[in-house]
Amino acid sequence: MEVIILLEVNGSTQLAGIIGNPVDHSLSPLLQNSFFASVGKNAVYVPLKIAAENLEEGIAGLWSLGFIGANVTIPYKEKVAQYLTGISTEAALMGAVNTLVRKENGFWGDNTDGRGFVKALAHRNWSPQNKTAAILGAGGSARAVSVSLAQQGIKKIVIINRDLKKAGEIVKVIGQLGVSAKSMQWNEPLIKRVIAESDLIVNTTPLGMAPNISALPPFDTKVLSRGQFVVDLIYNPLETKLLQEAKGQGCQVENGLGMLIQQGILSFEIWTGQRPLVKDIRNKLEASLLAR
Ligand code: NAP
Repeated sequence: MEVIILLEVNGSTQLAGIIGNPVDHSLSPLLQNSFFASVGKNAVYVPLKIAAENLEEGIAGLWSLGFIGANVTIPYKEKVAQYLTGISTEAALMGAVNTLVRKENGFWGDNTDGRGFVKALAHRNWSPQNKTAAILGAGGSARAVSVSLAQQGIKKIVIINRDLKKAGEIVKVIGQLGVSAKSMQWNEPLIKRVIAESDLIVNTTPLGMAPNISALPPFDTKVLSRGQFVVDLIYNPLETKLLQEAKGQGCQVENGLGMLIQQGILSFEIWTGQRPLVKDIRNKLEASLLAR
């Protein structure tokens, strides 16, 4: 059963939304409309599917129509910056924008993904200060997560990826932030030791995501042990095979909902200056996922 929020739309209703392609499976409309309702703000948040060739005029159109802001998702996070009045330092370091903020002459871009990730860790009483991390994958989310971990005092990051060039690009950015970083491919014998000795292991690959729920990142999960924190950015399924196996090894685990919620709260705060009330939001998102 789909969870529908009934909104009363009137002449003063403000607009926000998420730009991407596809957007029909996005949880952000449920998340952000719940946030608007929680503070009694007269606003709605809608999915905005847009073709690549219409991206520039689409963004200009949203500004002309008075949108207070928008999120950006796949495949446009790396492409929208050229159509904005400017971007934050964080978005520049991450090479991606996930939040558009209305300004006088157009939208300005920020990225709340990495900060949201670190906040989700803080909610589980985990701080990056002086810790080590192994990041599995080297795409957009790996870069966002790595930059924020580096900004929050992590000691060392190893990026493990098939494409060493992509991992190397993240290593370069992290290095500029003064954090020790290395890139490795999956077939290097040292991988076992790196994963076994990391305080934090983050899966940023789609391996394990529905419908291929039996897939695992290619390392022996028996090297995991108590005291390690294993985070999977995937939230469908709520518990990936990686998280099941990590739990079995005694690790602390977290799925991608924490990051999704926290990046959403940060975007909402930027748009509205208000803090949403979020007590039951995780249950709401889980119910929506389980109903699919
Ligand atoms: P992306 O830019 O496409 O990067 C995906 C990475 O996974 C790439 O480095 C790729 O390696 C690696 N990969 C893909 N298939 C692989 C395979 N079969 N074996 C080994 N490595 C593989 O994607 P993204 O935007 O970073 O997103 C990645 C995941 O994070 C997705 O599952 C997405 O849903 C999730 N995510 C969650 C949140 C959240 O809020 N929870 C936010 C953003 C993303 P190569 O470079 O070698 O191709």
